[in-house]
Amino acid sequence: MKFKPLLRLFKLAPKLKKWAWMAGVLVVLEAVSAPAMGELIRRMTDAIFSPGSANYSSIIIATMILVLAMSAIAWIRTRVIARISEQGAGEMRRLAVESLLEMPVSRLDTIHTGDQLSRLTNDAGVIRHYLYFEVFWFLSLPLAGILGLGYLFYLDWVMTLVTLAMIPILVLITTKVSGPVQKISAELQENLGVVNNHTQDALGGAEVVKAFNLQEEMEHRHDQALAATVASGMRLARQQAFVRMCSVASGFLPFLLPLALGGWFVVSGRLSAGSIVAFIQMLNSVTYPMSRLPMAMSEHQKSMAAFDRMYELIDEPRERQDGKEFSNGQGVVLRAENLVFGYDAEPILNGLSFELRRGETVALVGPSGAGKSTVFKVLVGFFPPQGGQVRLYDQPLENWKLSAARRQMAMVSQDTFLFPGTIAENIALGNPNAGRKAIEAAAIQANAHDFITQLPGGYDHVLEERGANLSGGQRQRISLARAILLDAPLLLLDEATSALDTESERLVQDALDNMAASRTTLVIAHRLSTIRNADRILVMDEGRIVESGKHQELLDKGGLYRQLYLRQLGAETETGGVA
Ligand code: ADP
Repeated sequence: MKFKPLLRLFKLAPKLKKWAWMAGVLVVLEAVSAPAMGELIRRMTDAIFSPGSANYSSIIIATMILVLAMSAIAWIRTRVIARISEQGAGEMRRLAVESLLEMPVSRLDTIHTGDQLSRLTNDAGVIRHYLYFEVFWFLSLPLAGILGLGYLFYLDWVMTLVTLAMIPILVLITTKVSGPVQKISAELQENLGVVNNHTQDALGGAEVVKAFNLQEEMEHRHDQALAATVASGMRLARQQAFVRMCSVASGFLPFLLPLALGGWFVVSGRLSAGSIVAFIQMLNSVTYPMSRLPMAMSEHQKSMAAFDRMYELIDEPRERQDGKEFSNGQGVVLRAENLVFGYDAEPILNGLSFELRRGETVALVGPSGAGKSTVFKVLVGFFPPQGGQVRLYDQPLENWKLSAARRQMAMVSQDTFLFPGTIAENIALGNPNAGRKAIEAAAIQANAHDFITQLPGGYDHVLEERGANLSGGQRQRISLARAILLDAPLLLLDEATSALDTESERLVQDALDNMAASRTTLVIAHRLSTIRNADRILVMDEGRIVESGKHQELLDKGGLYRQLYLRQLGAETETGGVA
């Protein structure tokens, strides 16, 4: 039986150690107090049957003191163990979340969100339950069992042996009837997982479901999965009812024989009545731990698996923390040299090179899937290149402390994630010390001020989940304001204007022009009409820069840029004609 994962928790959270010791001592005291109680009951009963033979009142007082002590121990023990379980499971969760937040993006991308959430909620829940209900059983069970058994032998060894002989029969019955429970409950968990997936799909894709009239289809799938779950739930209940019936019957079995045999012993003068009462009382505290053992074992296995799954997350490699902060140089701000990169075997960047000089606005264009967003991810150090290097102010990115390098760059990606909270909090995200004036100034520059002031509460307007109550253009302007407030010298913009209507596009475009004026900007442009004024346009294809120059130069050249431009112009006039 392994306990290593548990011991590691106490190593990771040393402040829990002293509580664990305390709980251990209390559990031992509890185990010792059971035979003591048995002995007092024996004496008390015997004193009732042969009055005057013992000091009855002193036995009563001793019993009362023991009851008080046992109650106090139970009270303190429960509180101490609750503390260990809450803090222990909390610590596991904290470490796992810390690991997720510090994990390299390359790794994070490969872990399924559902899996992460399941570890954080289910596994942490299993650990909490285990620490609360199970772990100290392993201390008290053997001890209570041994002490109890010792006392039973002391009372009467024949009766004890006869009772013990029945244990194999009981074990056999228990394992026979409870065996199928595990299989059925695993099946139930699996079916529940399928139902959850259907619910998640239905909620996540709610708009698609409605737009394509898939309600009936989704309901049908959900109903089917639900029916299977209900069926296995019922089967589990039937099996458990059977187990319950058998356990009631087998619970009486160990008592019947000692009672019959003991009655005869009392009549024949071998035993006192008090010994029989104490025997029955003590038998309870021996058989209960024994009957509880299989469940404690299975809970132990389950929680060791949960510990392992959480440690897997906790032990994930972190994003590197080394490196230094360098001062901003003049001239070239950023240089990509022969970058080679692929998420898997297929290369996405294939010897890509370019440079950004101070104050320039450079556009990155190319067919969809050419790897433009990937360039950004490599520039900000989410993914290290497999060949070549990124140089920031002439220093290789590997020498920079990642957090310092990222302070130099403000990235606005198409995924404008807004956190639950107010608009002001969302804009101030990168800059927690920013005052309201600075927030408003950033919003004005991002063309967001006007719509914000029209919202109820203005800057204090509370956003719904992911900003669902804002339009795409409004969300984008909030994330632009966020980048403006960061005031990083280098701006990386993944322009998502293609998804916006003309009015929002103009507002976003104006905001972008405002921002680009005072900074070095690299912008992924999806609408080529928006980058006519860029200082330079880099045309990307098959992981390389295949053309570069100004808009007109590239058009005159008649290469890929001209093709892309004409194709887009054609598409735009076509849609314009239809409208
Ligand atoms: P662009 O921005 O030019 O449209 P991307 O950089 O988004 O192109 O994608 C380039 C290629 O890399 C695509 O084929 C895409 O499927 C693949 N890709 C993008 N992100 C990942 C990722 N996280 N894992 C694996 N492949 C990816």
